[in-house]
Amino acid sequence: MSFPLIANERVKESVDLLISTRRIPHAIIIEGDEGAGRKTLARYLAKAAVCEADQKPCCSCRNCRLADAGTHPDIETVSLEPKKKNITVEQIRALRTTSYQAAHTADCRAFIIESSDTMNTASQNSLLKVLEEPPSNVVFILVAEAAKNLLETVVSRCVVFSLFPPSVTESVKLLKQRGYSEEDAAYILEQENGNIGKAIKRLDGDLGSAGIDAAHDFFEAINRGAALDALLSVTALEKDRAETAKFVSALKEAVSEKFKKSRSYAMVARELAEFHSVICELEPLLNTNINLSLFFTALTSKLLSVKK
Ligand SMILES: [Zn+2]
Repeated sequence: MSFPLIANERVKESVDLLISTRRIPHAIIIEGDEGAGRKTLARYLAKAAVCEADQKPCCSCRNCRLADAGTHPDIETVSLEPKKKNITVEQIRALRTTSYQAAHTADCRAFIIESSDTMNTASQNSLLKVLEEPPSNVVFILVAEAAKNLLETVVSRCVVFSLFPPSVTESVKLLKQRGYSEEDAAYILEQENGNIGKAIKRLDGDLGSAGIDAAHDFFEAINRGAALDALLSVTALEKDRAETAKFVSALKEAVSEKFKKSRSYAMVARELAEFHSVICELEPLLNTNINLSLFFTALTSKLLSVKK
């Protein structure tokens, strides 16, 4: 089973070792920033805790399948209630009560407490009671921004895993493993401010689109002032209006992104603002029956005239 976490090699090694030697701790804190993979790791640990196979988590037994579907009766997730800023003491009391009940289908119960560092002192003390004398076969997984936000008495009873978002190099490497070129990987990561989760979503979801692919190459060619390259990059779209529409949206997005990053350079910013208005001016033509190669020619020449 491949571990679903990006980077964080040391944590992966420890977790795999604990699981394979059947020593999942009864209390765990997973700390890190949003997007570092905390919930992914929490769900992985919970699945391993309920899995009935020898090699945990096997991902195919009934318990694993229920865990993957998010419907396992022995995995309970406590999260912030609507409009609440804290995990409440009532939620923790309910969790405590359930934790002493026998599991339904697995040999173990797992509790994931999201935003655990929003618990006030009363809630944490309530949790502490069950951490001090834990029922057998129960795993408590606390997801937090930082373990230091929790009471020392709570932290001292937990094994802490610290997760960090992957570095740019690690992210590029990962995207290359998924079959993307280094150039595409670096470009999308820059667009998504280095957020690997968003980059994957965008690449897997959108970049299969010829239109969005072309927008990237087209914009680069325009920036180099290379008219022929710009036109070549869109030849595949000339018979596809749907992809051309995606191309135009992606192009506008690329211009806006670059604009946000170059606001301090007045000349570049002015050029980008003009690019944007050229695209917006020509976009309605797509709703007419204009010949697409004519549309691309007009777009290219108008954009390049901005650069002169
Ligand atoms: Zn399993």
